[in-house]
Amino acid sequence: MDAIKVSGLSFSYDGKKEVLSNVSFSIPKGCYTTIIGHNGSGKSTIAKLLIGLMSPKQGSIEILGQSLNEDSVYELRDHVGIVFQNPDNQFIGSTVADDIAFGLENHCVPQEQMQEIIEDVAERVGMLDFLNSEPTKLSGGQKQRVAIAGILAIEPEIIIFDESTSMLDPQGKASINEQIQKLHSEKDRTILSITHDMEEVAQSEYVIVLKDGKVVLTGSPMEIFAHEKELASMMLDIPFALKVSKELVKEKITDQEVCTLEEVVNQLCQ
Ligand code: ADP
Repeated sequence: MDAIKVSGLSFSYDGKKEVLSNVSFSIPKGCYTTIIGHNGSGKSTIAKLLIGLMSPKQGSIEILGQSLNEDSVYELRDHVGIVFQNPDNQFIGSTVADDIAFGLENHCVPQEQMQEIIEDVAERVGMLDFLNSEPTKLSGGQKQRVAIAGILAIEPEIIIFDESTSMLDPQGKASINEQIQKLHSEKDRTILSITHDMEEVAQSEYVIVLKDGKVVLTGSPMEIFAHEKELASMMLDIPFALKVSKELVKEKITDQEVCTLEEVVNQLCQ
């Protein structure tokens, strides 16, 4: 069954200019998908439509086989979690621990299990020392970590990340990406991540490329990265390691394309 099925979706904020035009894609259950595209291409608009914050002008959305509409939206929201780029509007608790607890209470997790889960997820995002801090007083990157901890705690079936690691440094991004990968591989969660981080795109299974509100490319990361020039025209760079690897292939130093830095090093060491 598809976790998400979008068919012929069109949307406009002002009733005139379409910011999404006839967008269709399907994401199977358990698939880790990334959406990439230049700024303003419509990525966040898709995320807002998928959680029912707005309704499409045309087209339909199915979540876990059920049509998303005014009647089903509240029930379906139990199955879909989202982490926004700017989590300020998402904080409810007065401390980091309270904030994570709030999500757990909503999902009826027994009180006696809560503390253990809160400490576990805070540790996984590197925020264990901040459990008594006020979320609003944290830095942008720390706020993003807390918002991600909140979603790790409740593990909804479908999780949408809307540029949720944009304020983290490369090391911070890598460690959060590892947590997202674990959520996908160990818990079989469906992940839809809107990202500019091509290292994250490389670790996903399916990529959707948006340009001016239209889907222009879909495929595996390697299929998408093969369109290097087209991606560059949308200000999207293929991962650095893959660029190096392509140069190595050109120079006949290696006979196999690789996509992570680790793989490049392995090839060079052979
Ligand atoms: P992306 O996430 O790819 O950067 P968005 O979905 O945020 O793109 O925006 C797509 C288009 O919709 C842009 O032209 C943007 O200016 C416009 N837009 C986004 N939010 C609003 C809004 N609340 N009101 C009017 N226009 C908006």
